[in-house]
Amino acid sequence: MPGLHGVQIKGDSTVSSIVVKRRNMFKRNSIRLAAVLMVALASFIATPNAAPATAPEHHDQVPGFYRLKVGDLEVTALLDGPAILDPHWLTGEKATLDGVVKALPEDPHMLDAADTGFLVNTGKQLILVDAGSGTWFGGGAFGHLVGNLRSAGYTPEEVDLVLVTHLHSDHIGGLTTQDGNRVFPNAEIYVAKEESDFWLSPEIAAKAPKDANSQFFQSAQAIAAPYIEAGKWHTFSGLEPIVDGMQIVPLHGHTPGHTAYEFSSQRKKILFWGDTVHGQRVQLQHPEVTVVFDVDPPAALATRKQLLSKLASEDVVIAGPHMLFPGFGRLHKQGNGYSWAPVAFTDKWDDK
Ligand SMILES: [Zn+2]
Repeated sequence: MPGLHGVQIKGDSTVSSIVVKRRNMFKRNSIRLAAVLMVALASFIATPNAAPATAPEHHDQVPGFYRLKVGDLEVTALLDGPAILDPHWLTGEKATLDGVVKALPEDPHMLDAADTGFLVNTGKQLILVDAGSGTWFGGGAFGHLVGNLRSAGYTPEEVDLVLVTHLHSDHIGGLTTQDGNRVFPNAEIYVAKEESDFWLSPEIAAKAPKDANSQFFQSAQAIAAPYIEAGKWHTFSGLEPIVDGMQIVPLHGHTPGHTAYEFSSQRKKILFWGDTVHGQRVQLQHPEVTVVFDVDPPAALATRKQLLSKLASEDVVIAGPHMLFPGFGRLHKQGNGYSWAPVAFTDKWDDK
């Protein structure tokens, strides 16, 4: 079968000639590649400080908001800024506090915290729970809440109500600019009467001891003033709900009228617990640790102990302004204290 043989030979010679050509190409390319590498190496050696051609770093972050669906409610955490607690703000048993100070060099993130406000869209109203520090606390470290609210797709003008847990400036500072303008011009502000009566009283301020709380009288009065003037400052006593589907939960102790707000929808619950916990890694393990900002430390301690125990046995999402952002999580009993289970990131709108 000469034909076939011939074809085979032809085929063989064709294949081998292609192989040879490829080998030659590879050889030529190898030589070229080597030359390029030599040039690159030479230039690298000549200028050792030249930056390698890697992708540049991006020194920005995703916007500081996070959404959570609670039944039919859309809740958006709005970061005012990250925070670190001063260990000297903690008060309580010397042994516990000494333990914290001793552990800090090895565990420098033990007192990491945040300042966060929460926006609830009920479908009928837009409700802000706490407004961050703005420019009234933290020496310029905060004040990002409104920018994050806009990133989340809302405007300050759209906010109908603001429920405040208490009148410390890290929760109401975001309401008012330094020149006395309302940041949320259409919002009605709600606060417990006991809280408003305490911080807005010049007589109580004048008689108050000079301590960590002294600074908050003046700021509360300045922040509240434009809303009082506009008839938009409202106080409540008792447990009458301010809007449908919410419950007032008095948590007196941290401040005289410290109040949490619980919203329910489709049998799901979320509790905005204000300053029940400042330093989650310390106070969940040691609920007896108080802070210098507690107006009544024994009452704050008793309230916290009672609430933590209740929450650990319920399926309720907690929204904590000082818990690590976004501040949404659930509590579980762990040893003598509690552990925090942050909500898992999801972009799915089911809340199973
Ligand atoms: Zn606070």
